[in-house]
Order: sequence, then C-alpha cells, then structure tokens
Amino acid sequence: MTNVQKQTNPMVIRNGRVVDSSQGFDATADVVVIGNAVVSIESPGTTTLSDGWTEFDAGGKIVAPGFVDLHTHLRTPGQEWKEEPKTASDAAVRGGFTTICAMPNTYPAQDNASVVNALMQLCEAESSVRVRPIGAITKSREGQELAPMRELADAGVVGFSDDGDPVMSPHLMRQALAYSADLGLPTINHAEDRGLVSEWDMNEGAVATRLGLRGLPNSAESVMIARDVILAKITNGRLHVPHVSTAESVEIIRRAKSEGVNVTAEVTPHHLAITEEWVYGEFGEVPAVLNEHAYDTNAKMAPPLRTETDQQALIDGLTDGTIDTIATDHAPHADTDKVCTFTEAANGIIGLETALSLCVGVANVDIARVIDGLTVGPSSILNDASVGTLRPGTPADITIIDPDREWQVSSHKLGSKSHNTPLLNYTVKPKVIATFVGGVQVWAADKNGMAYV
Ligand SMILES: [Zn+2]
Repeated sequence: MTNVQKQTNPMVIRNGRVVDSSQGFDATADVVVIGNAVVSIESPGTTTLSDGWTEFDAGGKIVAPGFVDLHTHLRTPGQEWKEEPKTASDAAVRGGFTTICAMPNTYPAQDNASVVNALMQLCEAESSVRVRPIGAITKSREGQELAPMRELADAGVVGFSDDGDPVMSPHLMRQALAYSADLGLPTINHAEDRGLVSEWDMNEGAVATRLGLRGLPNSAESVMIARDVILAKITNGRLHVPHVSTAESVEIIRRAKSEGVNVTAEVTPHHLAITEEWVYGEFGEVPAVLNEHAYDTNAKMAPPLRTETDQQALIDGLTDGTIDTIATDHAPHADTDKVCTFTEAANGIIGLETALSLCVGVANVDIARVIDGLTVGPSSILNDASVGTLRPGTPADITIIDPDREWQVSSHKLGSKSHNTPLLNYTVKPKVIATFVGGVQVWAADKNGMAYV
C-alpha cells in the first residue's frame, strides 16, 4: 500500500467521541498517533503538542477505528471499466473504510495463487486502503470441483466464496467446510437455492405482482442456509453467511448459534435500510399510478430488497448479535448494465460510500452498534486484531464522522467508477469527513485538506 509506507508527523485527534468497542471505549478523548500507529488514547486536553505535531480538532465529531468491509466486488481483473483498485479505494475512504476484502468473482476468478498474487501486487501499487483477497471455493467458480484451498490460504486469502453464485452441490459444500475447519478460514456461500427458482427479477410478493416481474421467494435463501448450518455442524467447519436478507434466515442463524454451530453472518446496509418498494423508483414511496421512475434497475440486486418484516428482523438480528457484521456487497456496474429492461439488468449496487448513512440515517440503528458491526464484527471474523481497533500499537486506521452533517448522493461526487445506486439525489446523514490509513490522511471531505484543523 503506497500511502501506508509514508512517514507522517505525530498527530493528536482532539476532543472527539472515541467509539472503539474492541476496548469497550466510548467517551470524549484524544487519540495520539506517532509514525503509522496509534500510541495512546488520553483524557481530553492532556497531551502537550511539540514542534512538528499536527492537531486535528474533532470536537462534536465521532472518532472510530477505520471500517472493514468483508464484501467488496473489486471487478479487477477482467472488468476494469466497472471498478479498479484505485477507484474502489476512492469509494472506500469516502465511506470510512480502510480495509476491504475483494470477492473472487473476477475474470479470471481468484481460484489459484498466481491470480491472487497478481491482484495483490496491483493493489499494493494502486490502492490507498488495505485489500485482503478472498479465494474461490470451486475452480472458475463453476461449482464442479474444489479450488486448491490450501494453496489459496498460503497465498494469503482470508476466506473462500463463489459469491454471485451458490455452491449448489451439498457434497462440495461439505468438503469445503471440512477444509475450512483445518485452514481456520471462513467459507462464505452465496445462499440462493436455484433448485427452487432459477430465473427471477426481484423479491416475490405484491410489488413483483404489480410490476409483472418474476419473484424470488425467501425460502430460496433460508433453505440453503439451513443446509449449510447442518453441514457446518457435522464438519466443525467455519460458515459465514453473506448478505442475510430474510426473517427466516435470521431465525435459522440464531438457533444455530444457540446450538454452538461455528456460524457468523453479515447484513448489507441496503437490506437494513430499504425495501422492495424502492423498485418503484420513488425512494420507497408507493405511487398511486406507475410512472417513468418505476422498474428502477438500480434497486435490482441479489439477494433482492425484501419487505418491512424482513427489514425489521435484520435490524433485530444485528441488535441482538445474531448478525455479527455489516458488509457492503459493493457491486459496481456500468451504465450499460443498468440502462435496459429490469429483467436484462445486472444485479448489484455500489455500497461503500453510503454504508454508514444507510445504517444510521435511514435504518436508524444506533451508531455505536453500527461502528461495532463495521469494525469489531469483521475483524473477529477475519481473526485479525490489527484492524477495526484503536488499541495502542495497531496501525492508525481512523475514521472521523460528523453525526449531524447531511450530504446528497450525487454521481459526480462518488469515488467509485460506477454510479449504480437507487440513492442518487437522495439526502442522507451522517457523513465521513476524514479517513486515515496508517496515520496518513487519505480522505478529507473539505477542500482544505485537513478538515476542521
Ligand atoms: Zn452474494
């Protein structure tokens, strides 16, 4: 990572509300950074500045560990017109993310060490955030034969997934989970049983019926999660369920955890915050008469946006710890993938830049729980105590949030190369105003560089 290697002045981030659940800390304090690491958290105003020190006034702001995303689609190699490490980093830092995990559905897929090594070298040169690779479960992600999981683990992958496609074969999934137990890495299965429905456009229900679109039932997700939980139990494998979207799925995971199954789960900001009504293109309003905004392809994704009942179950699951972490499923697509009929449109929305605002400002989840879900949640799944924390001695990856600042999502301000989000022209809050990676400021919301200094 180019920026992380830079030397920086010693710095004090003063008077912010420091929220770091890795240390059970939530109080007004100063954070002291020397070199590339956090040195200490001090009572406000007690640190004396020396020559050459930098001061960052965070009064009225929230100071958090840099966010960690378990689920970013980097689109590189193979679809660089949608996203590249540089633009994914630009999106990440605007959203407060300092570590992102790259999903392996690239071309070629991340299914062997040489492909992973090449991507990591590129990220080292071009990315301003930390990038951790996820390896494929099966060769070419075709679901026929396991990828060389040991070789991938040795190359540094932090988990395995065929994301975008499910592992349909229970036999292969059982083998993958058995290997994951040995390797100590999570197996992340995109839960969508295509034996139930293979072709669909959106959630099965009233909106799909009104729009004449093909529906995907909740059961396509929960049936596969139930299978995977049972397989995790008999193998002692490490199962991580990505983008949980239904009430039934939350209940299955809750029960599995109570039985001691080694399962963790993530929810996306969009499944927490918005519902299937967003397909009408009116920011969740239900129009009396369909208009030109309906069939909003930017509201098309897998799993699809669900109902309010599901949304509430996801919020409850996050609040009671059934769901461990929030992950963006940042899925950039070019305009040509979205300016078409709803059925033809690609699945996915960008998510890094709007994650915090969706969870806190739209879904109204308590900000301390959201920060926990974006820091301690993913770092414990990655089993990496060096990220998602402000513990002394760890890299100074820090995100500063203005809790009251509103901003409008507009395509010319987004860092991502793609602009596929149903939130375009929507006003949200809070806003990430500054992001540091290894003590180096990589994002400032205001033009004068060190915002609020
Ligand atoms: Zn997926």
